[in-house]
Amino acid sequence: MSNDTIVAPATAPGESAVAITRLSGPRALDIASARFAGRASPLDSPSHRILFGSFLSRDGSPLDTVLLSVFRAPHSYTGEDIVEISSHGGAVIPRAILEELVREGARPARPGEFTERAFRNGKLDLAQAESVAALVRSRSERASRVARGGLGGSLSRRIAAVDAELVTLLAEVESRIDFPADVGEPMDGAALAARCGEIASSLREWTARMRDGRGVRDGVRAALIGRPNVGKSSLLNALVGYDRAIVAETPGTTRDTVEESIHVDGIEVRLTDTAGARRANDRVERLGVERARVAAEVCDLAVLVMDRSAPVGDADREAAALIAGRPTIVAWNKADLAESGVDAGNGANGANGANRASALATEGTLVAEVETVAVRAGGAESLRAAIRDALPIVLGGHSGDEIAPTSARQEELFAGAVASMARAEDGLRADASYDLVASDLSDARRALGEIVGRGVDEQVVAAIFSRFCIGK
Ligand code: GDP
Repeated sequence: MSNDTIVAPATAPGESAVAITRLSGPRALDIASARFAGRASPLDSPSHRILFGSFLSRDGSPLDTVLLSVFRAPHSYTGEDIVEISSHGGAVIPRAILEELVREGARPARPGEFTERAFRNGKLDLAQAESVAALVRSRSERASRVARGGLGGSLSRRIAAVDAELVTLLAEVESRIDFPADVGEPMDGAALAARCGEIASSLREWTARMRDGRGVRDGVRAALIGRPNVGKSSLLNALVGYDRAIVAETPGTTRDTVEESIHVDGIEVRLTDTAGARRANDRVERLGVERARVAAEVCDLAVLVMDRSAPVGDADREAAALIAGRPTIVAWNKADLAESGVDAGNGANGANGANRASALATEGTLVAEVETVAVRAGGAESLRAAIRDALPIVLGGHSGDEIAPTSARQEELFAGAVASMARAEDGLRADASYDLVASDLSDARRALGEIVGRGVDEQVVAAIFSRFCIGK
């Protein structure tokens, strides 16, 4: 247990009705009561009570009317005594309260220090602590739900179960090292190998869900790709609902990539409008085309925008070539012009439509073809619906509840555990020495343990909590 008492604002600074200042540590009740005048003192208060009174400044004059929430160790977030002071918000009072508490002996907390104390006091494990950070940071309803699942300890329970199996396996293998001739009824090598293989594949399956969890957490990246002037910016505007991208009549004027988020089924879809994918002459435009190439490269979903009212040309084919291998929606835009007789025979319903589209999309994976009129109210809703339908494909077909919460650190450790288990399996099948197999199994245990914070390097712990916000 720490012997100092820390303090930090628990709410974001700025104008607000209420601000919360949080104290945690052995002197929390002490320090709070030194500046509190009310009917009851925090020192005598039972846990989980709210006290009404005045917060006093140095000279004993009331600074603000406050509510004090008292949580006594170990029944608090950090496991220590906690006092939360709810005062009026704004620039002045919360700051003054913080200063007074520091004057009474509290130390300003480092980012994430409350959660770090909770971790050190066994209130939550490292995977859960990372879920706390993810929850605070989450930008979509689904991301928040997945983070809450992690906070509930789903990953930790899963790891505990696998670890228990590993302990059994390890005992089995180690008994052969110590008493090679004296194993009662030994599992044969093949059976052991099969167990390792099963564990490896269940870990692998979980890793796949983590990958999908990344999509939920960070959003799905969708890139609008197409030659200049087909209506990419207009479509982005229509989806986002306001004029974020600059729409221009001259081809090639959207030179920068523009990114905007929309929320589809609780998932954040980050739409990137790229400059026209076409050979560029001037330097600025070349930069834009380069960005289009990168956006196409890193996107999870490509929207290939085509002009329904013009023949498919080389520039369209060049654009299509950028999205090789990505799940692709083809949006035949300017369908209104085609309706009014300028039909060039393209589009899903055009004479050669199906042929042309599939010819274009052979490089990618065509998931849908829609017609759009970007400049008409509701004219991009077919595209929004196609994006919604494509999400399960992009997210690997898992529903939100099956998706594992994750951080890059956890993914790496999981991958390490999978590799160790695969090595153990191979070793057993190839009659490698039991020492080697035991060391592979121990490596897998170590990697899984680190996910929940067992035997994890102090620097890693520090790095994780340093990414938290102050007061969390
Ligand atoms: P980008 O270069 O692909 O981003 O294309 P823009 O969004 O800048 O659009 C180019 C031009 O086509 C603009 O004048 C738009 O108003 C027009 N435009 C875009 N979509 C449609 C559409 O569905 N129908 C019609 N008639 N015009 C459109």
